Amino acid sequence: MKKVLIVEDNPAGMRLMKMALKNPAYRLLEAADGLQALMLARCQHPDLIVMDVRLPKVDGLEVTRRLRQTPGFGGVPIIAVTASAMGGDRERIIAAGCDEYVAKPVDTQQFPRIVARLLASNHPAAGGPGG
Ligand code: MN
Repeated sequence: MKKVLIVEDNPAGMRLMKMALKNPAYRLLEAADGLQALMLARCQHPDLIVMDVRLPKVDGLEVTRRLRQTPGFGGVPIIAVTASAMGGDRERIIAAGCDEYVAKPVDTQQFPRIVARLLASNHPAAGGPGG
């Protein structure tokens, strides 16, 4: 059983991602703001985190930076989800410590494949994939 933490403040976005990741092999955890995400991540130690970038309280990139500084979270795959994944945004997202990013609304066919691929390659990474 893999624990997947979904961080998303928009209820429709959350529903879409939960539907896309509905899988008997996954236990889905939900957080609706940055502080809840940090708390839940630290006490539940998910195997992968899906991170909305624009969040109340603490934004998704700051949550990612804080988690990357937390012992045990160096290699947990984090997928950023953002409405605007272009130009400098990509650099900011990767620099914050995310492994991948996907654009909103998530593609319900592609998204679970990205999650499965990252779960399968969960090892301490020095950064994102090359590029
Ligand atoms: Mn949001």
